[in-house]
Parts: sequence; C-alpha cells; structure tokens
Amino acid sequence: MADVTQCMLNLDCCDLESGTAIDHLIHISSNILNKELRDLKAKKGKKVKSQSFGSNHIDNLIIACNNCNNRKKHKMLDHRLMMSILKEKNST
Ligand SMILES: [Zn+2]
Repeated sequence: MADVTQCMLNLDCCDLESGTAIDHLIHISSNILNKELRDLKAKKGKKVKSQSFGSNHIDNLIIACNNCNNRKKHKMLDHRLMMSILKEKNST
C-alpha cells in the first residue's frame, strides 16, 4: 500500500497540510477509460478484473491532499499522471 503521507496526485497546487482524502482515480460514474486501461495493464502480463476502474475497487482508490483533490474534481487525470500512479500502485 502506498505511503499515506504522500499525495498521489502531486499537482502544482499540492499541499499536504490542506488535509488528505481517499479519492477515486477514475470517477465512479465514468468507465470511459476502463477498456483502455485494462489493455495497457494487460500488456504487462497482468490480468485485471473488469470492475477495477470506475469503481470502489482498491485499484481505483488513491490518496490525495485536499488541494489536488479539489483541483481534479471529476475531471480525468492527465493520462501520463494516471499511468504513473497506476505503475506506482502496481509496484507496491
Ligand atoms: Zn496533492
């Protein structure tokens, strides 16, 4: 599990003193990238359950400070940032 003292979004507005919250990597109402992300992860030789994204599955939960969380809101993360978060989660 990731270090809970770190913000996984780490945007330019990042400030852990704003408090931290558990957030959905991909908002629960959106499954737009579900298939794409599964394909990307599958290339690493890992099988991913279809409900991993856009859900309350642990793979879809991240720890973020309130500043970053408020900045992100319901928007999709930058693709590269999302991939780096997923990579980090998979390595722990
Ligand atoms: Zn942050």
